[in-house]
Amino acid sequence: MRLLVVEDEEDLAEGLRVGLTRAGYAVDLAADAAQAYEQLTVNAYDLMLLDVNLPDGDGFTLCRSVRTGEIPTPGNHELRVLMLTARGDLSDRVRGLDDGADDYLVKPFHLAELQARIRALLRRDTNGTTACLTVGDIVLDTARHEVTVRAVPLNLTRKEFGVLEYLMTRPGKVVSSEELLEHVWDANADPFTQTVRVTVGTLRRKLGEGSIETVVGSGYRLSGSRS
Ligand code: CA
Repeated sequence: MRLLVVEDEEDLAEGLRVGLTRAGYAVDLAADAAQAYEQLTVNAYDLMLLDVNLPDGDGFTLCRSVRTGEIPTPGNHELRVLMLTARGDLSDRVRGLDDGADDYLVKPFHLAELQARIRALLRRDTNGTTACLTVGDIVLDTARHEVTVRAVPLNLTRKEFGVLEYLMTRPGKVVSSEELLEHVWDANADPFTQTVRVTVGTLRRKLGEGSIETVVGSGYRLSGSRS
């Protein structure tokens, strides 16, 4: 899953980038509204962490512009927005939700709580009620970062985990390699490498042949079955 962190406090932004990357997310940073605008029009994100007070504007306006389509965000139709607001400011929290934010977190916050809220927002599409995704005999725990197949633990690299998580939120659907590159890799990824194909290949071997079907010319589909 790919996140855009819009935060002008450098130390906080860098801390979030490190912590969230360690948690397995692809993370891009934007230091102001203008950078966020640019990133949103070019890249596809699953969730945006949005600071309310930005040097060149405010998070509310940016959020509303995304929701009304004023900012063209072709790949962001399922974008979740989590606002970062100032302590105790009730009007900020209310306004954020009214402007289309899905949730908010009051600064300062603990990374563990932020990560739990991110997981909760990202599983809304999957009708999941816990941190675990299940497709067939594959179970992926987004909180503990563990994958089991028929209760046997599987050792995955960070990118293999990211690809599997993305496919598991879209079971039975064909997902293109461009879409995987957009949602599992960050802005530093080279769009012309074979990295997606290679990662899907090693993931498929670990899950078992037949687990991920290649749909020629379209992409990949997770079947969840080992045979
Ligand atoms: Ca700020």
